[in-house]
Amino acid sequence: MSGRYVVMGGSGFLGSHLCDRLLGRGDEVVCVDDFSTGRRSNVTHLSDHPAFSLVEADISVSVPVEGPLTGVLHLASPASPPDYLARPLQTLAAGSEGTRRGLELAERHEARFLLASTSEVYGDPDIHPQTETYWGNVNPVGPRSVYDEAKRFAEALTMAHHRERGTNIGIARIFNTYGPRLRPDDGRVVSNFLLQALRGEPLTVYGDGSQTRSLCYVDDEVAGLVALLDADITGPVNIGNPDEYTVLELAQTVVELTGSLSTIVHQPLPLDDPTRRRPDITLARSALGWEPTTGLKEGLTRTAAFFAGNDGATTGTPG
Ligand code: UDP
Repeated sequence: MSGRYVVMGGSGFLGSHLCDRLLGRGDEVVCVDDFSTGRRSNVTHLSDHPAFSLVEADISVSVPVEGPLTGVLHLASPASPPDYLARPLQTLAAGSEGTRRGLELAERHEARFLLASTSEVYGDPDIHPQTETYWGNVNPVGPRSVYDEAKRFAEALTMAHHRERGTNIGIARIFNTYGPRLRPDDGRVVSNFLLQALRGEPLTVYGDGSQTRSLCYVDDEVAGLVALLDADITGPVNIGNPDEYTVLELAQTVVELTGSLSTIVHQPLPLDDPTRRRPDITLARSALGWEPTTGLKEGLTRTAAFFAGNDGATTGTPG
């Protein structure tokens, strides 16, 4: 049975792919975005879709959506480190006020609320790989805290709503995700490396590149999020790809795949940059029957094709 969903942050990288997925299976979608880090171009292909509507609003101020709802998905937050470091207060507001408004909207309509939380709640983890039972190692006053603590607060608020008011909720902890529609100036590692390689510029590895990340292709990530949306568990559930690479390995893979002549240069490591990150997805496998299926090379090839076919390869500044 099809439903009607609000996607807060629906014009962002992940949000827009979620809109596509829900519309593709016959649902109605109301995208709410203030276009601060999301882009109109991510949803222009949907503008004539009869089941799609767009509301321009800052979700930390209001979520002006009327009519019946099946679910409210909260994807509205700056998510790239350069983005949230440039918007500390907006990021905290999206996690706190935005989450509260989304929860209240869901509660009013007896809809399910899906929170896009993050592997950043684990901070620089002492436990590896990270299981959902690990409480994390976060610097509460460091520059990254505006994102980490906003998401940790959002999780606490979401659980409190569920416990006190019985709101139907699900919490996804999203690990590093990449794919088409990453903004060229997003500043994240995959967009930076691919664009640098395509432009023949040096790839900027921060630190010695021994830090690790586990990268999930966007189609896999969205399938996991929708599986959690359709399930009746609260989570939190890790949704990510457990294949782990050092940042240096990633840079070398990008150079190889693109056939680029780019060199690799080292730049200073950002403060509190987590040294390693890898999801334990046992829970997602057993409770959602989900696991990623797209390998790194395949995902990078598709993402490179997106950048090569877009203005991204020649304009915009990798951050
Ligand atoms: N990174 C890098 N070069 C870049 C961008 C990022 O070496 O041009 C590193 C960054 O320091 C981190 C990893 O790549 O260790 C992932 O960074 P990203 O900003 O994509 O996301 P994060 O996992 O830090 O939220």
